[in-house]
Amino acid sequence: MDCIFCKIIAGEIPCYKVYEDENTLAFLDVAPCADGHTMVIPKKHAAAFVEMSPEESGELFKAVNIVSNQIMEKMENVTGLTIGMNTYESAGQTVMHTHVHIFPRNENDGGGTTHSIVNNAKSSDSEYLKKISEQLTK
Ligand code: 5GP
Ligand code: ZN
Repeated sequence: MDCIFCKIIAGEIPCYKVYEDENTLAFLDVAPCADGHTMVIPKKHAAAFVEMSPEESGELFKAVNIVSNQIMEKMENVTGLTIGMNTYESAGQTVMHTHVHIFPRNENDGGGTTHSIVNNAKSSDSEYLKKISEQLTK
């Protein structure tokens, strides 16, 4: 399969590894948006997060927690993290192998919050929110 991240897992493309367990690999992003910008990926190929089982997702986020603590404890000048995933092209995913981005943060880094990525809600009216929650749970 022609997947860059599967090639990294197979050792065919080098990476700066920061964590590995049976199901997961974490390595530095080749084009970092912050010092220590890290990608956490499942070793089993899944094009996008929603194509993983809940159990596989759990293993992935267990590793995200471990790597997050590793970064907070071992990197200087890191006082927070932004953690996120782009899922499918509509949300900006460019590498079609599930990956979680961890961006090390501090108060003065000039970055925004997750609220600055998407801000296009039609309404915050309670009836409208109720309608969406009913749609999601029926
Ligand atoms: P996406 O936009 O799909 O959420 O993120 C893909 C990320 O993968 C980008 O931040 C990009 O810099 C990173 N990336 C793409 N190719 C490589 C590579 O060969 N090695 C590493 N370490 N990161 C890569
Ligand atoms: Zn892959």
